[in-house]
Amino acid sequence: MKTILLTFLIALLFANFACFSGRSGGNEGNDSGKPEQNNTNTKIKESTGITKMDTTIKTDTKFTDLNKDAFRLHYDAIVIDTHNDILMPVFLQGAKLDADNAGTQSDLVKWKKGGLDVQMFSIYVPERYKSNHFSYVMKLIDKLESFEQENPQTFALCKNYSELESALNSGKFTALMGGEGGNMVEGSMENLETLYSRGVRYLGLTWNTSNAIAISAKDETERGKKGGLTEFGRDVVKRMNELGMLIDVSHLGETAFWEVAELSNSPIIASHSNCYSLCPHYRNLTDEQIKAIAKSGGYIGINFFYKFVDPSGSPGAIKKCTKQHTQCSR
Ligand SMILES: [Zn+2]
Repeated sequence: MKTILLTFLIALLFANFACFSGRSGGNEGNDSGKPEQNNTNTKIKESTGITKMDTTIKTDTKFTDLNKDAFRLHYDAIVIDTHNDILMPVFLQGAKLDADNAGTQSDLVKWKKGGLDVQMFSIYVPERYKSNHFSYVMKLIDKLESFEQENPQTFALCKNYSELESALNSGKFTALMGGEGGNMVEGSMENLETLYSRGVRYLGLTWNTSNAIAISAKDETERGKKGGLTEFGRDVVKRMNELGMLIDVSHLGETAFWEVAELSNSPIIASHSNCYSLCPHYRNLTDEQIKAIAKSGGYIGINFFYKFVDPSGSPGAIKKCTKQHTQCSR
């Protein structure tokens, strides 16, 4: 039985999934390195009986200094990325989910190379859609379900743990869905429940813009908007707890964050946020917020969008971090 490991660092080098204002649909960053091979693959097989290392991957000098055990751990574990915007370029710009697209950093080919096993697809409505957010999301889910129906031997869209376990054991690439932005609920509890019944297993209460549920981090810090959760938002938090739907606080204003932390009786998550003390950006979390998420039993998915990683806001921040990580692992 393999250990399920929520590990993001190495997977993110291959499967990009940053999310930010002015979204580019999963095309952020430019890392494309490949892991060292040597005889590691054989050793994994001997010790565990399982391996997911793709033997067709060629050695790239970029990672030759990394500790081989890190790769063994990575490829032996079940690696989950909890936020990826790839559906926008797939459904709006013609990218192929099952092809090695030149213009995206995410697709099934790259995920396989990167050792990613489970992808949580971000269900998101682009800002230019001013209305009918719920119906847009329903169509997006329809299309993802259609892809599963067209690829039943290789791709599984799961709604619960047993489905996920079954899909992984059968060697399928496993998909889950998470909603980004409570605007898609359109102020209707019935819509929230439909999202859950369709398989959406977390919901980010806001994106950068505030909505009927809460004030966003961007509005609170850059536009001076006051307030946290609305009355409807408080009901949404309670209903999500009842449904077993995770509350995602990435993008959420800090006032609303603390109200959620107080109100929720279930673990809360930040699907794609970083550490404010290292990079003071409104999309990142203070040390106190990080401790509160840990105390709730939740998790934080690291975001490699450069503005959330390096205080200088330099596009080269990711490469700098990769270099530092390589040096540290020696
Ligand atoms: Zn986002």
